[in-house]
Amino acid sequence: MTSLLLTGIGELVTNDPTHDGTRLGLLDDAAVVLDGHRIAWVGRRLDAPEADAARDLGGRAVLPGFVDSHSHLVFAGDRAEEFAARMAGESYAAGGIRTTVAATRAATDEQLSANVARLVAEMRRQGTTTVEIKSGYGLTTLDEARALAVARQYTDETTFLGAHVVPPEYADDPSGYVDLVTGPMLDAAAPHARWIDAFCERGAFDADQAHTILLAGQAAGLAGRLHANQLGPGPGVRLACELGLTAVDHCTHLDDADVEALAGSGTIATLLPGVEFSTRSPYPDARGLIDAGVTVALASDCNPGSCYTSSMPLCVALGVREMRMTPAEAVWSATAGGARALGRDDVGVLAAGKQAHLTVLEAPSYLHLAYRPGVPLVAEVIA
Ligand SMILES: [Zn+2]
Repeated sequence: MTSLLLTGIGELVTNDPTHDGTRLGLLDDAAVVLDGHRIAWVGRRLDAPEADAARDLGGRAVLPGFVDSHSHLVFAGDRAEEFAARMAGESYAAGGIRTTVAATRAATDEQLSANVARLVAEMRRQGTTTVEIKSGYGLTTLDEARALAVARQYTDETTFLGAHVVPPEYADDPSGYVDLVTGPMLDAAAPHARWIDAFCERGAFDADQAHTILLAGQAAGLAGRLHANQLGPGPGVRLACELGLTAVDHCTHLDDADVEALAGSGTIATLLPGVEFSTRSPYPDARGLIDAGVTVALASDCNPGSCYTSSMPLCVALGVREMRMTPAEAVWSATAGGARALGRDDVGVLAAGKQAHLTVLEAPSYLHLAYRPGVPLVAEVIA
């Protein structure tokens, strides 16, 4: 394995506070040594050890690859017409998922895999080096298992979301569907999944159902996470905190008790501002959560219905512009925060021994991610 010395890093975001006492752990005129898949050394250029090869990055800023901890990439078709209708004034309802379910069931494994490959490559071009991918558009035992098998080809962070919505054939028997999700479907999905998730929302699954599903998943060796409080207030966030889940996602409609529960738990609040942007809805209160001491992650929620962006730089810009995060908070939440939301300490930080996942910006500072929204600032991804 040959080592590579990267120099000419105008600004390095390490997410290692030992460098400067801030969360981003910034270094000017920095260097990094990579050794195979791992980082061997991080520090100032003048202190850098020798390596087998060297590259000068010309003063560009470098940060950890984005960790997108929430996406739904295994699907067929798109819902551009639904988006257009929504922009013309119709409100988003969870039932729109059923359109994608029908298209996904009709697709071949090869078609599903090609779509995931396309989206993962699109994410990579925008600086994402770790992505979580959920099932949830199959909603039969066979279709959920094959969705997860497809996702597994692209990431270890796969999530069983059989409890995305009750499929039409169970419309009159939702508890029968919960039995399926916690029984044969879980058995078929578990070998391909690391996580289990449920959409705890009015019109999807209530807190008792979500609780049952999460406990069944945990018994099958899957760790829990939850979609909660997206479309309105509800018990999901408090349930996630009570169960000590790694992350609870959306957190758009919270009351004081929800914020208190999050602040007193180790559960990460994952905010998905691309959804509010794409559905023209009020944003979560990132500022209030951070000020209350809650650890916040940012993720894309890339999916064909409520948010068809794969762009973490857009999420950073929305975090800053629309949710009053500082640029430093937003970049941390999109890298180290996402890693924490996946229970990972080997990504989202640039330090010796960590994964060599670096995003190089065509800009002198990470500030440009929020300052120059919509601009393709990712010059290169090293991973
Ligand atoms: Zn989602």
